Amino acid sequence: DTIGANFKKSVARFPDREALIDAPTGRRWTYAELDADTDALAMALIDRGISKGDRVGIWAQNLPEWTIVQYATAKIGAILVNINPAYRAHELEYVINQSGTTLLISQMAALHSDFVALAREVAGAVANLRLVFIDTAAEAVVTSPAGGLDESESFGHLLARGRELMDRPAVKADIRLATLAAELGADEPINIQYTSGTTGFPKGVTLSHHNILNNGYFIGELLSYTEEDIVCLPVPFFHCFGMVIGNLDIYSHGACAVIPSPGFDPQATLQAVADEKATSLYGVPTMFIAELELANFADFDLSSLRTGVMAGSTCPVEVMKRVISDMHMSEVAICYGMTETAPVSTMTRTDDSLERRTETVGRVMPHTEVKVVDPVTGLTVPRGEKGELCTRGYCVMLGYWKEPDKTAEAIDAARWMHTGDLAIMDDDGYLNITGRIKDMVIRGGENIYPREIEEFLYQHPAIRDVQVVGVSDEKYGEELMAWVILRDGAQELTIEGLREFCSGQLAHYKIPRYLQITDEFPMTVSGKIRKVELRAKAEELVK
Ligand code: ATP
Ligand code: MG
Repeated sequence: DTIGANFKKSVARFPDREALIDAPTGRRWTYAELDADTDALAMALIDRGISKGDRVGIWAQNLPEWTIVQYATAKIGAILVNINPAYRAHELEYVINQSGTTLLISQMAALHSDFVALAREVAGAVANLRLVFIDTAAEAVVTSPAGGLDESESFGHLLARGRELMDRPAVKADIRLATLAAELGADEPINIQYTSGTTGFPKGVTLSHHNILNNGYFIGELLSYTEEDIVCLPVPFFHCFGMVIGNLDIYSHGACAVIPSPGFDPQATLQAVADEKATSLYGVPTMFIAELELANFADFDLSSLRTGVMAGSTCPVEVMKRVISDMHMSEVAICYGMTETAPVSTMTRTDDSLERRTETVGRVMPHTEVKVVDPVTGLTVPRGEKGELCTRGYCVMLGYWKEPDKTAEAIDAARWMHTGDLAIMDDDGYLNITGRIKDMVIRGGENIYPREIEEFLYQHPAIRDVQVVGVSDEKYGEELMAWVILRDGAQELTIEGLREFCSGQLAHYKIPRYLQITDEFPMTVSGKIRKVELRAKAEELVK
Protein backbone atom coordinates (compact mmCIF):
# COMPACT_ATOMS: atom_id res chain seq x y z
CA ASP A 1 0.00 0.00 0.00
CA THR A 2 0.85 3.64 -0.30
CA ILE A 3 0.28 5.80 2.76
CA GLY A 4 -2.74 7.47 1.17
CA ALA A 5 -4.37 4.16 0.19
CA ASN A 6 -3.81 2.74 3.66
CA PHE A 7 -5.35 5.83 5.24
CA LYS A 8 -8.43 5.53 3.03
CA LYS A 9 -8.93 2.00 4.36
CA SER A 10 -9.08 3.29 7.93
CA VAL A 11 -11.44 6.06 6.82
CA ALA A 12 -13.72 3.47 5.22
CA ARG A 13 -13.74 1.31 8.34
CA PHE A 14 -14.01 4.00 10.99
CA PRO A 15 -15.43 7.18 9.38
CA ASP A 16 -17.00 8.50 12.58
CA ARG A 17 -14.34 7.56 15.06
CA GLU A 18 -12.03 10.25 16.35
CA ALA A 19 -8.67 10.39 14.59
CA LEU A 20 -6.98 13.51 15.93
CA ILE A 21 -7.35 15.70 19.01
CA ASP A 22 -5.42 18.92 19.50
CA ALA A 23 -5.53 19.45 23.25
CA PRO A 24 -4.28 23.10 23.36
CA THR A 25 -7.04 24.37 21.04
CA GLY A 26 -9.65 21.69 21.70
CA ARG A 27 -10.01 20.97 17.97
CA ARG A 28 -11.02 17.40 17.07
CA TRP A 29 -11.23 15.48 13.79
CA THR A 30 -13.01 12.21 12.97
CA TYR A 31 -11.47 9.98 10.30
CA ALA A 32 -13.95 11.32 7.74
CA GLU A 33 -13.11 14.92 8.68
CA LEU A 34 -9.38 14.34 8.57
CA ASP A 35 -9.79 12.66 5.20
CA ALA A 36 -11.79 15.62 3.89
CA ASP A 37 -9.20 18.15 5.12
CA THR A 38 -6.29 16.18 3.71
CA ASP A 39 -8.08 15.76 0.37
CA ALA A 40 -8.77 19.50 0.30
CA LEU A 41 -5.16 20.37 1.03
CA ALA A 42 -3.98 17.82 -1.55
CA MET A 43 -6.19 19.52 -4.17
CA ALA A 44 -4.97 22.96 -3.15
CA LEU A 45 -1.36 21.83 -3.50
CA ILE A 46 -2.09 20.52 -7.00
CA ASP A 47 -3.76 23.82 -7.76
CA ARG A 48 -0.59 25.60 -6.67
CA GLY A 49 1.44 23.57 -9.12
CA ILE A 50 2.80 20.91 -6.81
CA SER A 51 3.08 17.50 -8.41
CA LYS A 52 4.51 14.10 -7.70
CA GLY A 53 8.13 14.20 -6.54
CA ASP A 54 8.10 17.92 -5.69
CA ARG A 55 9.43 18.75 -2.25
CA VAL A 56 7.07 20.36 0.23
CA GLY A 57 8.74 21.46 3.45
CA ILE A 58 7.11 21.71 6.83
CA TRP A 59 8.76 23.80 9.52
CA ALA A 60 6.51 23.62 12.52
CA GLN A 61 6.01 22.20 15.97
CA ASN A 62 3.34 19.62 16.76
CA LEU A 63 0.23 21.23 15.31
CA PRO A 64 -2.69 19.34 13.75
CA GLU A 65 -1.76 21.07 10.47
CA TRP A 66 1.40 18.97 10.50
CA THR A 67 -0.65 15.81 10.26
CA ILE A 68 -2.86 17.29 7.54
CA VAL A 69 0.22 18.23 5.52
CA GLN A 70 1.74 14.76 6.05
CA TYR A 71 -1.30 12.99 4.60
CA ALA A 72 -2.05 15.56 1.90
CA THR A 73 1.48 15.28 0.48
CA ALA A 74 1.35 11.47 0.73
CA LYS A 75 -1.89 11.41 -1.24
CA ILE A 76 -0.36 13.23 -4.23
CA GLY A 77 3.14 11.75 -4.01
CA ALA A 78 4.85 15.02 -3.12
CA ILE A 79 7.95 14.49 -0.98
CA LEU A 80 7.50 15.88 2.50
CA VAL A 81 10.59 17.51 3.97
CA ASN A 82 10.51 17.55 7.75
CA ILE A 83 12.24 20.61 9.16
CA ASN A 84 13.30 20.94 12.76
CA PRO A 85 11.41 23.85 14.40
CA ALA A 86 14.53 24.79 16.33
CA TYR A 87 16.37 25.64 13.13
CA ARG A 88 17.20 29.25 12.49
CA ALA A 89 17.56 31.13 9.20
CA HIS A 90 20.91 29.63 8.25
CA GLU A 91 19.94 25.98 8.88
CA LEU A 92 16.53 26.52 7.33
CA GLU A 93 18.14 27.79 4.15
CA TYR A 94 20.52 24.84 4.11
CA VAL A 95 17.73 22.28 4.35
CA ILE A 96 15.48 24.03 1.83
CA ASN A 97 18.31 24.36 -0.67
CA GLN A 98 19.69 20.88 -0.06
CA SER A 99 16.31 19.24 -0.53
CA GLY A 100 15.14 21.56 -3.32
CA THR A 101 11.98 22.50 -1.45
CA THR A 102 9.67 24.72 -3.49
CA LEU A 103 6.82 25.23 -1.04
CA LEU A 104 7.41 25.76 2.66
CA ILE A 105 4.55 25.44 5.10
CA SER A 106 5.63 27.14 8.28
CA GLN A 107 4.68 28.28 11.69
CA MET A 108 7.18 31.09 11.46
CA ALA A 109 5.47 33.66 13.64
CA ALA A 110 5.52 31.35 16.62
CA LEU A 111 9.06 30.23 15.99
CA HIS A 112 10.52 33.60 15.10
CA SER A 113 9.47 36.96 16.52
CA ASP A 114 10.82 38.77 13.47
CA PHE A 115 9.23 36.40 11.01
CA VAL A 116 8.48 38.89 8.23
CA ALA A 117 12.17 39.75 7.96
CA LEU A 118 13.10 36.09 8.21
CA ALA A 119 10.58 35.12 5.55
CA ARG A 120 11.97 37.79 3.22
CA GLU A 121 15.50 36.62 3.91
CA VAL A 122 14.73 32.97 3.25
CA ALA A 123 12.57 33.72 0.23
CA GLY A 124 15.42 35.89 -1.09
CA ALA A 125 18.04 33.20 -0.54
CA VAL A 126 16.10 30.35 -2.12
CA ALA A 127 14.97 30.58 -5.71
CA ASN A 128 11.24 30.06 -6.42
CA LEU A 129 10.29 29.31 -2.84
CA ARG A 130 6.67 29.80 -1.90
CA LEU A 131 5.65 30.29 1.72
CA VAL A 132 2.49 29.21 3.48
CA PHE A 133 1.90 30.42 7.02
CA ILE A 134 0.04 28.28 9.51
CA ASP A 135 0.03 30.94 12.23
CA THR A 136 -3.09 32.98 12.39
CA ALA A 137 -0.90 35.82 13.67
CA ALA A 138 1.10 35.68 10.46
CA GLU A 139 -1.96 35.44 8.26
CA ALA A 140 -2.92 39.08 8.65
CA VAL A 141 0.60 40.30 8.08
CA VAL A 142 1.56 38.23 5.07
CA THR A 143 -1.66 38.76 3.22
CA SER A 144 -1.58 42.54 3.73
CA PRO A 145 0.10 44.68 1.05
CA ALA A 146 2.61 45.82 3.68
CA GLY A 147 3.62 42.19 4.22
CA GLY A 148 5.16 42.40 0.81
CA LEU A 149 5.64 38.69 0.33
CA ASP A 150 4.18 37.99 -3.11
CA GLU A 151 4.50 34.27 -3.07
CA SER A 152 2.90 33.69 0.27
CA GLU A 153 -0.48 32.85 1.65
CA SER A 154 -2.05 31.51 4.78
CA PHE A 155 -2.74 27.87 5.47
CA GLY A 156 -6.38 28.69 6.14
CA HIS A 157 -6.64 30.32 2.73
CA LEU A 158 -5.00 27.35 1.02
CA LEU A 159 -7.32 24.90 2.74
CA ALA A 160 -10.36 27.01 1.84
CA ARG A 161 -9.25 26.99 -1.79
CA GLY A 162 -8.92 23.21 -1.65
CA ARG A 163 -12.41 22.81 -0.18
CA GLU A 164 -13.82 25.02 -2.89
CA LEU A 165 -12.18 22.85 -5.55
CA MET A 166 -13.51 19.70 -3.93
CA ASP A 167 -17.02 21.12 -4.06
CA ARG A 168 -16.92 22.02 -7.74
CA PRO A 169 -18.48 19.20 -9.73
CA ALA A 170 -16.72 20.26 -12.92
CA VAL A 171 -13.29 19.73 -11.40
CA LYS A 172 -14.12 16.19 -10.22
CA ALA A 173 -11.42 16.53 -7.60
CA ASP A 174 -11.97 13.11 -6.09
CA ILE A 175 -11.45 11.43 -9.46
CA ARG A 176 -8.24 13.38 -9.96
CA LEU A 177 -6.97 12.38 -6.53
CA ALA A 178 -7.90 8.75 -7.08
CA THR A 179 -6.10 8.73 -10.42
CA LEU A 180 -3.03 10.23 -8.84
CA ALA A 181 -3.13 7.71 -6.02
CA ALA A 182 -3.33 4.84 -8.49
CA GLU A 183 -0.18 6.10 -10.22
CA LEU A 184 1.87 6.15 -7.03
CA GLY A 185 4.33 3.35 -6.39
CA ALA A 186 4.92 2.21 -2.83
CA ASP A 187 8.68 2.22 -3.39
CA GLU A 188 8.78 5.83 -4.48
CA PRO A 189 10.24 8.51 -2.20
CA ILE A 190 7.68 10.19 0.03
CA ASN A 191 9.69 11.78 2.76
CA ILE A 192 13.03 13.36 3.56
CA GLN A 193 13.78 13.23 7.25
CA TYR A 194 16.86 14.83 8.67
CA THR A 195 18.67 12.82 11.37
CA SER A 196 18.88 14.23 14.88
CA GLY A 197 22.36 15.61 14.42
CA THR A 198 23.52 13.96 17.61
CA THR A 199 26.93 13.22 16.21
CA GLY A 200 27.31 15.97 13.64
CA PHE A 201 25.37 17.79 10.97
CA PRO A 202 21.96 16.23 10.21
CA LYS A 203 21.73 14.06 7.10
CA GLY A 204 18.67 14.02 4.82
CA VAL A 205 17.28 10.49 4.82
CA THR A 206 15.10 9.65 1.81
CA LEU A 207 12.32 7.20 2.65
CA SER A 208 9.61 5.48 0.61
CA HIS A 209 5.93 4.78 1.40
CA HIS A 210 6.93 1.18 1.90
CA ASN A 211 9.73 2.06 4.34
CA ILE A 212 7.69 4.11 6.75
CA LEU A 213 4.16 2.79 6.34
CA ASN A 214 5.21 -0.81 6.98
CA ASN A 215 7.33 0.23 9.91
CA GLY A 216 4.46 2.15 11.49
CA TYR A 217 2.05 -0.70 10.77
CA PHE A 218 4.23 -3.37 12.39
CA ILE A 219 4.83 -1.22 15.48
CA GLY A 220 1.07 -0.79 15.84
CA GLU A 221 0.63 -4.55 15.48
CA LEU A 222 3.21 -5.28 18.16
CA LEU A 223 1.52 -2.79 20.51
CA SER A 224 -1.83 -4.55 19.77
CA TYR A 225 -3.42 -1.28 18.65
CA THR A 226 -7.09 -1.24 17.73
CA GLU A 227 -9.55 1.54 17.01
CA GLU A 228 -10.04 1.78 20.79
CA ASP A 229 -6.56 3.14 21.39
CA ILE A 230 -5.88 6.79 22.17
CA VAL A 231 -2.23 7.70 21.85
CA CYS A 232 -0.67 10.75 23.45
CA LEU A 233 2.19 12.16 21.35
CA PRO A 234 4.53 14.62 23.05
CA VAL A 235 7.30 13.54 20.66
CA PRO A 236 8.09 15.81 17.70
CA PHE A 237 6.36 15.23 14.35
CA PHE A 238 9.32 16.52 12.38
CA HIS A 239 11.20 13.45 13.65
CA CYS A 240 10.42 9.82 12.80
CA PHE A 241 9.33 9.23 16.39
CA GLY A 242 6.30 11.50 15.95
CA MET A 243 5.41 10.94 12.31
CA VAL A 244 6.12 7.20 11.89
CA ILE A 245 6.11 5.51 15.31
CA GLY A 246 3.40 8.06 16.09
CA ASN A 247 1.08 8.94 13.23
CA LEU A 248 1.59 5.98 10.90
CA ASP A 249 1.03 3.26 13.50
CA ILE A 250 -2.00 5.12 14.86
CA TYR A 251 -3.79 5.81 11.56
CA SER A 252 -3.04 2.39 10.10
CA HIS A 253 -4.99 0.92 13.03
CA GLY A 254 -7.93 3.32 13.24
CA ALA A 255 -6.68 4.64 16.58
CA CYS A 256 -6.69 8.28 17.73
CA ALA A 257 -3.75 10.69 18.15
CA VAL A 258 -3.70 13.32 20.89
CA ILE A 259 -1.35 16.30 20.63
CA PRO A 260 -0.78 17.55 24.19
CA SER A 261 1.16 20.71 23.30
CA PRO A 262 3.09 22.18 20.35
CA GLY A 263 6.45 21.72 22.10
CA PHE A 264 7.20 19.26 24.89
CA ASP A 265 5.53 20.19 28.17
CA PRO A 266 5.43 17.48 30.87
CA GLN A 267 2.51 19.08 32.67
CA ALA A 268 0.39 19.36 29.50
CA THR A 269 1.31 15.79 28.54
CA LEU A 270 0.03 14.21 31.74
CA GLN A 271 -3.01 16.49 31.66
CA ALA A 272 -3.86 15.32 28.14
CA VAL A 273 -3.45 11.67 29.15
CA ALA A 274 -5.85 12.21 32.04
CA ASP A 275 -8.39 14.31 30.09
CA GLU A 276 -8.57 12.06 27.03
CA LYS A 277 -8.07 8.79 28.92
CA ALA A 278 -5.12 7.92 26.70
CA THR A 279 -4.16 4.25 26.50
CA SER A 280 -0.65 4.86 25.19
CA LEU A 281 2.09 7.43 25.76
CA TYR A 282 5.35 7.99 23.89
CA GLY A 283 8.59 9.63 24.86
CA VAL A 284 12.34 9.62 24.92
CA PRO A 285 13.73 8.76 28.35
CA THR A 286 14.33 12.40 29.31
CA MET A 287 10.63 13.17 28.70
CA PHE A 288 9.52 10.36 31.00
CA ILE A 289 12.03 11.57 33.59
CA ALA A 290 10.59 15.11 33.42
CA GLU A 291 7.04 13.75 33.81
CA LEU A 292 7.94 11.50 36.74
CA GLU A 293 9.76 14.36 38.46
CA LEU A 294 6.78 16.75 38.38
CA ALA A 295 5.94 17.93 41.88
CA ASN A 296 2.24 17.31 41.23
CA PHE A 297 2.77 13.97 39.47
CA ALA A 298 0.40 12.20 41.88
CA ASP A 299 -2.47 14.56 40.93
CA PHE A 300 -2.85 13.11 37.42
CA ASP A 301 -5.06 10.10 36.87
CA LEU A 302 -2.97 7.98 34.51
CA SER A 303 -4.86 4.74 35.10
CA SER A 304 -6.14 4.62 31.50
CA LEU A 305 -2.59 3.99 30.21
CA ARG A 306 -1.76 0.50 29.05
CA THR A 307 1.17 0.77 26.71
CA GLY A 308 3.53 3.16 25.00
CA VAL A 309 6.91 3.52 23.40
CA MET A 310 10.17 4.57 24.89
CA ALA A 311 12.91 5.07 22.34
CA GLY A 312 15.56 7.31 20.93
CA SER A 313 18.27 6.68 23.45
CA THR A 314 19.15 4.34 26.25
CA CYS A 315 16.45 3.96 28.87
CA PRO A 316 17.77 3.87 32.44
CA VAL A 317 16.47 0.81 34.24
CA GLU A 318 15.22 2.83 37.23
CA VAL A 319 13.16 5.10 34.99
CA MET A 320 11.67 2.14 33.14
CA LYS A 321 10.57 0.52 36.36
CA ARG A 322 8.73 3.67 37.42
CA VAL A 323 7.08 4.04 34.01
CA ILE A 324 5.69 0.53 34.41
CA SER A 325 4.60 0.89 38.04
CA ASP A 326 3.75 4.58 38.59
CA MET A 327 2.45 5.31 35.08
CA HIS A 328 0.57 2.02 34.69
CA MET A 329 2.24 1.32 31.35
CA SER A 330 2.55 -2.39 31.97
CA GLU A 331 2.86 -3.15 28.23
CA VAL A 332 5.33 -0.37 27.38
CA ALA A 333 7.77 -1.27 24.63
CA ILE A 334 11.30 -0.20 23.97
CA CYS A 335 12.08 0.52 20.37
CA TYR A 336 15.47 0.83 18.86
CA GLY A 337 16.14 2.29 15.48
CA MET A 338 17.41 5.16 13.44
CA THR A 339 16.02 7.52 10.84
CA GLU A 340 17.85 5.53 8.16
CA THR A 341 15.84 2.37 8.99
CA ALA A 342 12.45 4.07 8.86
CA PRO A 343 13.10 3.96 11.94
CA VAL A 344 12.49 0.87 14.12
CA SER A 345 14.51 -2.31 13.63
CA THR A 346 14.20 -3.97 17.05
CA MET A 347 11.48 -3.80 19.66
CA THR A 348 10.46 -5.50 22.88
CA ARG A 349 7.18 -7.41 22.80
CA THR A 350 4.36 -6.63 25.21
CA ASP A 351 4.62 -10.08 26.78
CA ASP A 352 8.38 -9.89 27.31
CA SER A 353 9.54 -10.17 30.89
CA LEU A 354 10.18 -7.01 32.86
CA GLU A 355 13.83 -7.89 32.79
CA ARG A 356 13.90 -8.02 29.00
CA ARG A 357 12.00 -4.77 28.75
CA THR A 358 14.36 -3.00 31.09
CA GLU A 359 17.60 -4.51 29.93
CA THR A 360 17.31 -4.98 26.16
CA VAL A 361 15.93 -3.18 23.11
CA GLY A 362 14.03 -6.33 22.19
CA ARG A 363 14.47 -8.43 19.11
CA VAL A 364 14.26 -7.90 15.42
CA MET A 365 11.06 -6.56 13.81
CA PRO A 366 9.04 -8.71 11.35
CA HIS A 367 10.54 -8.87 7.83
CA THR A 368 13.81 -7.37 9.01
CA GLU A 369 17.24 -8.90 9.63
CA VAL A 370 19.90 -7.79 12.09
CA LYS A 371 23.45 -8.97 12.69
CA VAL A 372 26.31 -7.89 14.93
CA VAL A 373 29.68 -7.62 13.23
CA ASP A 374 33.25 -6.86 14.10
CA PRO A 375 33.59 -3.26 12.87
CA VAL A 376 37.07 -3.98 11.53
CA THR A 377 36.71 -7.37 9.82
CA GLY A 378 32.99 -7.14 9.05
CA LEU A 379 32.51 -10.73 10.22
CA THR A 380 29.56 -11.66 12.43
CA VAL A 381 30.70 -11.99 16.05
CA PRO A 382 29.57 -14.86 18.35
CA ARG A 383 26.42 -14.29 20.44
CA GLY A 384 27.23 -12.39 23.62
CA GLU A 385 30.03 -10.41 22.04
CA LYS A 386 30.00 -6.75 21.25
CA GLY A 387 30.12 -5.39 17.72
CA GLU A 388 28.47 -3.04 15.25
CA LEU A 389 24.79 -3.59 14.62
CA CYS A 390 23.71 -3.91 10.98
CA THR A 391 20.13 -3.96 9.68
CA ARG A 392 18.62 -5.19 6.42
CA GLY A 393 15.09 -5.37 5.06
CA TYR A 394 12.19 -3.33 3.67
CA CYS A 395 12.97 -0.61 6.21
CA VAL A 396 16.38 0.43 4.92
CA MET A 397 16.21 3.93 3.43
CA LEU A 398 16.46 4.67 -0.27
CA GLY A 399 19.57 6.72 0.58
CA TYR A 400 20.79 10.08 1.83
CA TRP A 401 19.20 12.77 -0.36
CA LYS A 402 21.69 13.78 -3.05
CA GLU A 403 24.63 12.30 -1.11
CA PRO A 404 25.52 9.07 -2.91
CA ASP A 405 28.95 8.88 -1.24
CA LYS A 406 27.51 8.97 2.26
CA THR A 407 24.86 6.45 1.22
CA ALA A 408 27.53 4.08 -0.06
CA GLU A 409 29.41 4.41 3.24
CA ALA A 410 26.32 3.50 5.26
CA ILE A 411 24.72 0.77 3.11
CA ASP A 412 26.97 -1.98 1.79
CA ALA A 413 26.63 -3.92 -1.44
CA ALA A 414 24.46 -6.58 0.21
CA ARG A 415 22.04 -3.81 1.38
CA TRP A 416 23.09 -3.98 5.06
CA MET A 417 22.75 -0.64 6.85
CA HIS A 418 25.73 -0.10 9.15
CA THR A 419 24.25 1.68 12.15
CA GLY A 420 27.36 2.95 13.94
CA ASP A 421 25.84 1.58 17.15
CA LEU A 422 27.47 -1.04 19.34
CA ALA A 423 25.34 -3.98 20.34
CA ILE A 424 25.38 -7.43 21.92
CA MET A 425 22.93 -10.15 20.85
CA ASP A 426 22.02 -12.88 23.33
CA ASP A 427 21.15 -16.49 22.55
CA ASP A 428 17.47 -15.67 22.10
CA GLY A 429 18.15 -12.81 19.71
CA TYR A 430 17.55 -10.00 22.22
CA LEU A 431 19.82 -7.03 21.72
CA ASN A 432 21.56 -4.69 24.03
CA ILE A 433 22.72 -1.34 22.67
CA THR A 434 25.91 -0.48 24.47
CA GLY A 435 26.69 2.89 22.96
CA ARG A 436 27.83 4.43 19.74
CA ILE A 437 31.13 3.56 18.19
CA LYS A 438 31.86 7.30 18.32
CA ASP A 439 31.17 7.53 22.11
CA MET A 440 33.49 4.76 23.18
CA VAL A 441 36.27 5.95 25.45
CA ILE A 442 39.69 4.34 25.41
CA ARG A 443 41.57 4.87 28.67
CA GLY A 444 44.99 3.33 29.03
CA GLY A 445 44.13 0.77 26.36
CA GLU A 446 40.85 -0.27 28.03
CA ASN A 447 37.67 0.17 26.00
CA ILE A 448 35.07 1.90 28.17
CA TYR A 449 31.40 2.15 27.31
CA PRO A 450 29.96 5.26 29.02
CA ARG A 451 26.51 3.68 29.18
CA GLU A 452 27.63 1.10 31.74
CA ILE A 453 28.95 3.76 34.08
CA GLU A 454 25.86 5.93 33.63
CA GLU A 455 23.61 3.00 34.59
CA PHE A 456 25.62 2.53 37.75
CA LEU A 457 25.63 6.23 38.70
CA TYR A 458 21.84 6.49 38.31
CA GLN A 459 21.60 4.56 41.56
CA HIS A 460 23.22 7.44 43.47
CA PRO A 461 20.50 9.16 45.55
CA ALA A 462 21.65 12.69 44.64
CA ILE A 463 21.79 12.06 40.88
CA ARG A 464 18.80 12.86 38.73
CA ASP A 465 20.50 12.48 35.35
CA VAL A 466 24.05 11.70 34.31
CA GLN A 467 26.21 11.58 31.20
CA VAL A 468 29.74 10.23 31.04
CA VAL A 469 32.18 11.37 28.34
CA GLY A 470 35.85 10.99 27.59
CA VAL A 471 38.35 13.86 27.72
CA SER A 472 41.90 13.85 26.44
CA ASP A 473 44.57 12.96 28.94
CA GLU A 474 48.31 12.96 28.47
CA LYS A 475 48.98 9.92 30.58
CA TYR A 476 46.04 7.63 29.73
CA GLY A 477 44.96 8.95 26.36
CA GLU A 478 41.49 9.63 27.74
CA GLU A 479 39.91 10.11 31.17
CA LEU A 480 36.26 10.07 32.14
CA MET A 481 34.14 13.04 33.12
CA ALA A 482 30.71 12.63 34.68
CA TRP A 483 28.21 15.41 33.95
CA VAL A 484 25.54 15.32 36.61
CA ILE A 485 22.15 16.98 37.12
CA LEU A 486 21.33 16.82 40.82
CA ARG A 487 17.94 15.93 42.19
CA ASP A 488 15.95 18.83 43.66
CA GLY A 489 17.04 19.36 47.24
CA ALA A 490 19.91 16.89 46.95
CA GLN A 491 23.02 17.30 49.04
CA GLU A 492 26.03 18.73 47.26
CA LEU A 493 28.03 16.12 45.35
CA THR A 494 31.83 16.19 45.14
CA ILE A 495 34.18 14.18 42.95
CA GLU A 496 35.56 12.54 46.10
CA GLY A 497 32.06 11.50 47.16
CA LEU A 498 31.33 10.18 43.70
CA ARG A 499 34.56 8.19 43.52
CA GLU A 500 33.86 6.73 46.94
CA PHE A 501 30.40 5.65 45.73
CA CYS A 502 32.01 3.84 42.78
CA SER A 503 34.91 2.37 44.69
CA GLY A 504 34.71 -1.39 44.95
CA GLN A 505 31.69 -1.39 42.62
CA LEU A 506 33.32 -0.45 39.31
CA ALA A 507 36.72 -1.41 37.96
CA HIS A 508 39.18 1.35 38.91
CA TYR A 509 39.66 2.52 35.32
CA LYS A 510 35.91 3.04 34.92
CA ILE A 511 35.66 5.45 37.84
CA PRO A 512 35.30 9.03 36.57
CA ARG A 513 38.23 11.32 37.21
CA TYR A 514 36.19 14.53 36.84
CA LEU A 515 32.74 15.66 37.91
CA GLN A 516 30.75 18.57 36.51
CA ILE A 517 27.43 19.59 38.02
CA THR A 518 25.08 21.19 35.52
CA ASP A 519 21.42 22.27 35.26
CA GLU A 520 20.78 20.76 31.86
CA PHE A 521 22.38 18.84 29.02
CA PRO A 522 22.66 20.16 25.46
CA MET A 523 19.80 18.51 23.59
CA THR A 524 18.63 17.91 20.07
CA VAL A 525 15.02 18.89 19.50
CA SER A 526 14.09 15.23 19.33
CA GLY A 527 15.14 15.13 22.98
CA LYS A 528 18.53 13.48 22.71
CA ILE A 529 21.56 14.49 24.63
CA ARG A 530 24.30 15.85 22.41
CA LYS A 531 27.26 14.05 23.87
CA VAL A 532 29.58 15.56 21.30
CA GLU A 533 28.85 18.96 22.78
CA LEU A 534 29.43 17.73 26.34
CA ARG A 535 32.69 16.21 25.22
CA ALA A 536 33.78 19.50 23.63
CA LYS A 537 32.87 21.40 26.81
CA ALA A 538 34.73 18.82 28.90
CA GLU A 539 37.84 19.36 26.79
CA GLU A 540 37.61 23.11 27.46
CA LEU A 541 37.25 22.54 31.21
CA VAL A 542 40.27 20.30 31.65
CA LYS A 543 42.53 22.29 29.35
P1 ATP B 1 22.98 11.74 13.72
O1 ATP B 1 22.90 10.49 12.89
O2 ATP B 1 22.66 12.97 12.96
O3 ATP B 1 24.23 11.85 14.52
P2 ATP B 1 21.11 10.40 15.47
O4 ATP B 1 21.84 9.16 15.10
O5 ATP B 1 20.86 10.65 16.93
O6 ATP B 1 21.83 11.67 14.86
P3 ATP B 1 18.50 9.48 14.82
O7 ATP B 1 18.36 8.75 13.54
O8 ATP B 1 17.38 10.35 15.26
O9 ATP B 1 19.72 10.43 14.73
O10 ATP B 1 18.76 8.46 16.01
C1 ATP B 1 19.21 7.13 15.83
C2 ATP B 1 20.17 6.74 16.94
O11 ATP B 1 19.54 6.85 18.24
C3 ATP B 1 20.61 5.31 16.86
O12 ATP B 1 21.67 5.17 15.93
C4 ATP B 1 21.02 5.03 18.31
O13 ATP B 1 22.33 5.50 18.57
C5 ATP B 1 20.05 5.85 19.13
N1 ATP B 1 18.94 5.04 19.65
C6 ATP B 1 17.71 4.93 19.14
N2 ATP B 1 16.93 4.15 19.89
C7 ATP B 1 17.68 3.72 20.92
C8 ATP B 1 17.45 2.86 22.05
N3 ATP B 1 16.27 2.32 22.28
N4 ATP B 1 18.47 2.64 22.89
C9 ATP B 1 19.68 3.20 22.67
N5 ATP B 1 19.95 4.02 21.64
C10 ATP B 1 18.97 4.28 20.76
MG1 MG C 1 22.69 8.52 13.28
